[in-house]
Amino acid sequence: MITSALHSATEPSSTQPRVFLQAGRDRRVVQGHPWVYSNEIRMDPETKALPAGTVATLHRVDGKALGVGTFNPHALIAFRIFDRDSTVRLDEPFFLGRLRRALTLRDRLFEKPFYRLVHAEADGLPGMIADRFGDVVVLQMNTAGMDSLAPTVLAALHELFSPADIVFRNDARARAQEGLADTDMDSDAGESRPVGVEEGGRTFAADLASGQKTGWYYDQRDSRALVAPLARGGRMLDAYCYAGGFGISAACEGASDVVCIDSSQSALDLARKAADANGVGGICTFTKAVAFSELERLGKTGERFRVVVADPPAFVKSRKDLNAGLRGYRKLTRLAAALVEPGGFLFVASCSHNVTSEAFSGEVAKGMAATERSGRIVRAGGPGLDHPVHPHLPETAYLKTLLLQVD
Ligand code: SAH
Repeated sequence: MITSALHSATEPSSTQPRVFLQAGRDRRVVQGHPWVYSNEIRMDPETKALPAGTVATLHRVDGKALGVGTFNPHALIAFRIFDRDSTVRLDEPFFLGRLRRALTLRDRLFEKPFYRLVHAEADGLPGMIADRFGDVVVLQMNTAGMDSLAPTVLAALHELFSPADIVFRNDARARAQEGLADTDMDSDAGESRPVGVEEGGRTFAADLASGQKTGWYYDQRDSRALVAPLARGGRMLDAYCYAGGFGISAACEGASDVVCIDSSQSALDLARKAADANGVGGICTFTKAVAFSELERLGKTGERFRVVVADPPAFVKSRKDLNAGLRGYRKLTRLAAALVEPGGFLFVASCSHNVTSEAFSGEVAKGMAATERSGRIVRAGGPGLDHPVHPHLPETAYLKTLLLQVD
């Protein structure tokens, strides 16, 4: 087209709003970091008035273009860079390219189409999470930018592999930080959308509409594969079991019996369904209980297990909960380690963004000491391969896991 020749190769389209960094604030961005904080941006009245989620180009004070992305004047992370080439349009072909790259990686890693397909910035799609369950995709659009781009992303997803269904499970906490309403399935409240999840050669039951998060914790896939065989021939306790990922895997791997604990009845119903579907219902029990009290009670009755898994929800949801949350991991370890038979294993996890792996290991060590059990860390791990991390955002590697042998 003739008009395209009017734009020089580096000049973005004039229709796109321009957002400027403050003087001297470009270093981190130039080095490859994908975020700009609101205090690094020249918030003149015009910029401040841009609607949350506006697609814009980012510029140095002298006008040099640094990239294209989405802007939210009301969020702490105000600008998220999608591409370093500011002439790139965030249109359907762009998203198709990013989604195809994410899909190609997962196709190389996994035989079956059950995985996290998109892990936000690491997959070049800031603010977006997509989990795939066969031909159904569950989406979380957690920033104003991604929220406004959702129709284009959906069109690209359909073009990529025509999912039979796309379910939105927007994360209320993340959206609140962006000033977005919680649209988490309001229209579908109480609905159920059961689906089978294939992992490690087994089928589990998830509910995409009313289950937790996107319906399944793909992040613990590798940990389940690591831990399940360790219970062979012995008893296994799966605390915070959700849909039974750890416990049912252990039962299938030859544990003599498995006790699953969760405070949610609907989670336990999913776990029971999976146990029956895999032919291990007879050796699994499901207890609806608050984990701390139940662990304490089991300790008093003298029950012991070859493997104890404690995979709780985030204890530290925001920085102000840090101290209480850290004490929580210590107490959890103390109660759980006491239930491990000598020579057995304890697996503990923290999915709290605000807890570093050092802090987590420190609390686990104190918890072991408090129950007068010694042991050794045989594996310090994290999420599976479908949860990549942007090289400049190591802090988004939220999941920390420790497998200990207990004397
Ligand atoms: N281990 C699971 C994921 C656990 S998610 C897996 O592999 O898929 C955390 C679980 O803890 C949720 O199912 C939630 O219902 C449960 N939960 C939250 N608070 C709890 C409490 N106080 N006691 C017991 N379970 C709790």
